[in-house]
Amino acid sequence: MFLFLLFVTPFVFAENNYFRLVIHGGAGDITEQNISEELKKEHEKKLTEALQAGYTILSQGGDSIDAVQAAVMVMEDSPLYNAGKGASLTVDNKVELDASIMDGRDHKAGAVAGVSHIRNPIMAAYKVMTKSPYVMMGGIGAEEFAQAEGLDIVEPSYFIIESRTEQLKKVKEISQKVEQEKGVNAALYQDPLMYDYKYGTVGAVAVDIRGNLAAATSTGGTTNKHYGRIGDSPIIGAGTYADNNTIAISTTGLGEAFIRTVAAYDVAAQIKYRQTPLAEAAKNTLNSVQEMGGAGGMIAVDNKGNFIMQFNTKGMFRGTIGQDGVPQVAIYGL
Ligand code: ASP
Repeated sequence: MFLFLLFVTPFVFAENNYFRLVIHGGAGDITEQNISEELKKEHEKKLTEALQAGYTILSQGGDSIDAVQAAVMVMEDSPLYNAGKGASLTVDNKVELDASIMDGRDHKAGAVAGVSHIRNPIMAAYKVMTKSPYVMMGGIGAEEFAQAEGLDIVEPSYFIIESRTEQLKKVKEISQKVEQEKGVNAALYQDPLMYDYKYGTVGAVAVDIRGNLAAATSTGGTTNKHYGRIGDSPIIGAGTYADNNTIAISTTGLGEAFIRTVAAYDVAAQIKYRQTPLAEAAKNTLNSVQEMGGAGGMIAVDNKGNFIMQFNTKGMFRGTIGQDGVPQVAIYGL
């Protein structure tokens, strides 16, 4: 009987009858007053498209690591989000992109930071994870590596859209006031929510039918950031984390606060060491982020398919899909 169980059990339980994908498109001051009905519909459509890209993979028995990448790429290619095309601009009118990805099966991870020519930074992060001995690469080195790996390289102008140029102009006006009033360099005195009503970073987490977890995050960072500034999104443990025994998680918000609280890992650690329920762990970490003067949100999933989409801002672009294939998307707070 024992032998029978020993050989049969792994086979019987090798596949779950469930899987789940959860995505976000950034948190912030997202309210009905700030978003037109038309823009809301565009977001709902794009979030659904991102969910479907991941669902196609997961429903065919594909890996969560591929599903999160596919979902993030849809949002990187959309000018609606602050990642890839349409990313927010630096103080000197440029785009500097950060991204990371992590595989919960073996804790392998990859990240790129401060890149300006890679069309899909999340693919570059994946290549760092799978084709290099490193976890993180930055700047020109990362770009040359991505090119050698056959990824699409584009002119920086590909990423820049008019509304971001307008946004930067407005932010600079506010910055000048801050500089006059507070006597500080506004590009260093960062509170993006003061300048913009949303962050717009994108992320995805998933559990596949084998119970494997994965997480991915991609961003242009904060508007008017000093060139060279790197946020939490490419930092494993702050913006992204995945571990099959606890959770896969992706965060969005004021990066400095998420780095200082080691936010993504902080949620996982509460579950690992204290068996804290996921929603409670996320709340605790968001409270710590707030204590550091930050705001934002996070999505996470565990290997049972339990998930959260939590934020301490007014709203967060978000969505989820499971084995029933019905996409659910939301924008405002509850
Ligand atoms: N966390 C990102 C950063 O600080 C910004 C965002 O979430 O939109 O770079």
